[in-house]
Amino acid sequence: MRRVLVTGGAGFLGSHLIDRLLDNGNEVVCLDNFFTGSRENIRHLMQHDHFEIVRHDIVEPILLEVDYIYNLACPASPVHYQYNPVKTIKTSVMGMINMLGMAKRVHARILQASTSEVYGDPKVHPQTEDYWGHVNPIGVRSCYDEGKRAAETLIMDYHRQNDVDTRIARIFNTYGPRMAANDGRVVSNFVVQALQGKPLTVYGDGEQTRSFCYVSDLVEGLIRLMNTDDYHDPVNIGNPNEFTILELAEQIKEQLGSKVEIHKEPLPSDDPKQRKPDITRAKEVLGWEPTIQLKEGLAKTISYFDQALKGKIAMPRSYAGKED
Ligand code: NAD
Ligand code: UDP
Repeated sequence: MRRVLVTGGAGFLGSHLIDRLLDNGNEVVCLDNFFTGSRENIRHLMQHDHFEIVRHDIVEPILLEVDYIYNLACPASPVHYQYNPVKTIKTSVMGMINMLGMAKRVHARILQASTSEVYGDPKVHPQTEDYWGHVNPIGVRSCYDEGKRAAETLIMDYHRQNDVDTRIARIFNTYGPRMAANDGRVVSNFVVQALQGKPLTVYGDGEQTRSFCYVSDLVEGLIRLMNTDDYHDPVNIGNPNEFTILELAEQIKEQLGSKVEIHKEPLPSDDPKQRKPDITRAKEVLGWEPTIQLKEGLAKTISYFDQALKGKIAMPRSYAGKED
């Protein structure tokens, strides 16, 4: 049995990843400081014989003995990563150093949850892994973007200098059940607003684009990357079907049969204008591509939030803002 550490395991992606790892017969240690994650996301696993949870902040060193490390700990929603930007970059840089140090000490394979944000406001479209990006180093998104870029640098240097067995997943916008209702990202915002009969808050003119990946596809991509031997360069994991934010809003209204209005709000600074992954590498190296398209994924997400808002499922809420 393999012992797997998932940092950020009480969060949205981490909790789905842990479900799959346990189903696959692994022993899982979930490490989380509960900044944006929630016990609700992992409550169903508390009695599982092969699951344990450690409340810990990856900015501080920790000694654990594991075979594999998925490093997902980091707030991912702009609202939350900008709440305490110094803490966000510390999480990406000091947290990465601590996890790489652990990987080096116990000879564990380590996968970093990097992001499409390393491409910034991209001038190359769709984004390929060899594009170096167009990132503002001093803007309000920099704590996240530059933190994740520095984490990639650290990974590559630990690999070259110390022969650590590393993987880098560049994750594009992912959505699905267990996002916190107050997460602040666009899919959960729109779905919750539409279910509550409130106007959908579109930032800017809504012509900016994103490509949305359903969570089960994303988890499959992460696991395949971890299990691929001897591949250390970054791999884009995302769904290449691209939509404007207005198209997303209209799609959600249509699926709900809702007539709520669209309320335009100011565009946050440095908001990328377009984003779409080139997934040629993921197809070639991992034999992976997404299987769930937006309509189907939204139906599952809408059903989840509908149940959660009616109190039929315990709803994770982010505690962001209550801890540093
Ligand atoms: P999330 O906010 O739901 O989960 C992040 C988890 O990390 C939470 O449980 C939080 O409490 C924990 N955490 C934050 N800082 C920590 C710290 N210092 N020490 C320990 N735990 C800490 O976000 P998510 O969507 O599940 O994202 C998971 C990872 O994937 C993040 O690293 C994020 O940058 C990356 N990612 C996500 C997306 C996406 O669209 N969901 C896209 C690109 C990258
Ligand atoms: N967005 C929006 N309304 C919202 C939340 C987000 O129009 O209520 C926009 C946001 O400006 C961005 C896109 O949707 O252009 C995706 O935002 P999100 O925070 O989900 O992710 P990211 O910007 O990190 O890709």
